[in-house]
Amino acid sequence: MSKSTLFKLKFWGTRGSIPCPGPDTVKYGGNTTSFEITCGTRRVIIDAGTGIRLLGKKIMIEEANFLDADLFFTHTHMDHIQGLPFFAPLYNPMSNVRLHAGHLGGEKYDLHGIIGTMLMKDPVFPVPSSLIEQACTFSDYDCGKVFDLGDDILISTGKLNHPNGACGYRIEYKGKAIAICTDTEHYDDRIDENVVALAKNADIMVYDSAYTDEEYPKFKGWGHSTWQEAIKVAEAAGVKQTFLFHHEPSHNDEKMDQIAKEAAKVRKGVRPAVEGEEITV
Ligand SMILES: [Zn+2]
Ligand SMILES: [Zn+2]
Repeated sequence: MSKSTLFKLKFWGTRGSIPCPGPDTVKYGGNTTSFEITCGTRRVIIDAGTGIRLLGKKIMIEEANFLDADLFFTHTHMDHIQGLPFFAPLYNPMSNVRLHAGHLGGEKYDLHGIIGTMLMKDPVFPVPSSLIEQACTFSDYDCGKVFDLGDDILISTGKLNHPNGACGYRIEYKGKAIAICTDTEHYDDRIDENVVALAKNADIMVYDSAYTDEEYPKFKGWGHSTWQEAIKVAEAAGVKQTFLFHHEPSHNDEKMDQIAKEAAKVRKGVRPAVEGEEITV
């Protein structure tokens, strides 16, 4: 095994709420949330929106369809889980994928129940979850937990402000950190200390920037934030690079270019996430 110390983030899906393919979204992408984080020879995946299908395709071609990874969900809204049944490595019984969710609270629902009885269940979907269950395990944890995955990989979790709950992640490897903070809404009167703690001095922060400050009042309470707030958090936390994320479906490439320009003027190292882009930390 190579002693690689590579620490890398790849955006497989950047869009929020619903996939929106088409000529107007080719630049920033139309697939919903999915991140791949490479830590040396290990792999951490966050969310299984429609973008995860493309990651699965790559694994099938380059790695003979076998996958060993941890997959953490920010939460189980549709745009973060709907790619899971199309993630091909899960149909290889030799794969070992550990699925984790921390937002459910363990009372009414658990992750296994959501995937097995709501998503991959007739008449909603023709393939039962039993066909992926040889390749994966489901576990629920209490948001706030810290995971030591071994090989110097530490994952901290923290509560976000989102309807039905969501967890943010801080992935640390070899002294560097990537923070993933989507889906979350800011507060009017204070900065969200949970988000600042996850992003503290991070090399990369990904932040829910679905709206602009001008659009936000119409969507207050929907659980999303703005690019202007991303900059406030980046400043408070001392983040190096900030990626605006969970692009609003109505924001076409032209609008995203405009946001990119305005954001870059306010703070260096702030830009919208682009589907397919890889960033080495
Ligand atoms: Zn979402
Ligand atoms: Zn959501």
